Amino acid sequence: IYKNCGNKFDSLSLIKPAAFRKHRMEYAATAINRRHRRRDKIVVIMGATGSGKSRLSIDLASRFPAEIINSDKIQVYRGLDITTNKIRFHDRLGVPHHLLGEFDSSLGEFTPSQYRYHASSAIQQIAGRRKLPLVVGGSNSFIYALLADRFNPDVELFNGSDPVCTELRYRCCFLWVDVSLPVLNEYLIKRVDQMLDSGMLDELAQYYESEINESEINTGLRKAIGVPEFRRYFRMFPGRMKDTHGGVGEDDQVRRVVYEEAVRAIKDNTCQLANRQMEKILRLKGEGWDLQKLDASAAFSAALEGESADGWSGIWERQVVEPSVKIVERFLE
Ligand code: ATP
Repeated sequence: IYKNCGNKFDSLSLIKPAAFRKHRMEYAATAINRRHRRRDKIVVIMGATGSGKSRLSIDLASRFPAEIINSDKIQVYRGLDITTNKIRFHDRLGVPHHLLGEFDSSLGEFTPSQYRYHASSAIQQIAGRRKLPLVVGGSNSFIYALLADRFNPDVELFNGSDPVCTELRYRCCFLWVDVSLPVLNEYLIKRVDQMLDSGMLDELAQYYESEINESEINTGLRKAIGVPEFRRYFRMFPGRMKDTHGGVGEDDQVRRVVYEEAVRAIKDNTCQLANRQMEKILRLKGEGWDLQKLDASAAFSAALEGESADGWSGIWERQVVEPSVKIVERFLE
């Protein structure tokens, strides 16, 4: 045990059964991957929510044989596909996705340690198939848990002043899709309206109907932006929005007000999430992670200004995809 744990413990006398159980997954992943980890190359696509990470991952996977590992801590759970913005099945273009909608939220919170374990074994399997693992998602604490050579599950990196570990378990190529905050906020607000048009409210109504034991404690999927914000609405009007696709009857003023409050809160919380995610990315970069920035602001601005799909996707291709392909090619050489 001592050998496999490296220098985690100073002496055997310090290993207590409870401590061992707590860190068991981390040790297993460490031991299994010790042989592989210095060798495997991975690409990590980072960025705030809504910045186009999923799109870039498919763009890259159509140029390099690759498989995608999700690193969004809410998208790991099964369910609420529209609310959590999971990439739609037909947009995946047949590229295999891992840790996306695989875990049952009712079994408890999926922790960073569990992510480290499951994502490590996915990397190992993908590399074994001679494909490139692409880690894609906005949860920087999950990315950190996976990559940091010294990872302490008891320390919440982004809530404390602990230094960032710059020694990584894999050879990593970091692509950071950046969109200037004002442009991203404008886009995120529109995206919430689009999600509502695509059936988010129906999805939430069904979720609230099937939530048998609705407790006040928010864990797992219950934390997804949209669930807490609509709690008051569905308590007051259980199942009432199912067939209306976001439309609120003119005659029902209270329902309209409560609905609009919920939508406003979703928009605010989504913009705040993007802001927090950007701060975390800047911290990782500031402390030495070699993140290569791709500025997608012009493509987003063009889309927001109503430019044709050909127009803005041309900008996306030139300013984001082509530089990313060059960076990955150099990295793989
Ligand atoms: P981390 O701190 O792990 O980097 P994060 O970037 O996802 O995580 P947090 O500040 O921890 O950001 O906020 C996470 C919260 O954001 C979740 O609890 C949830 O409310 C919301 N959230 C994150 N991702 C999604 C998503 N895909 N769908 C809906 N809500 C999400």
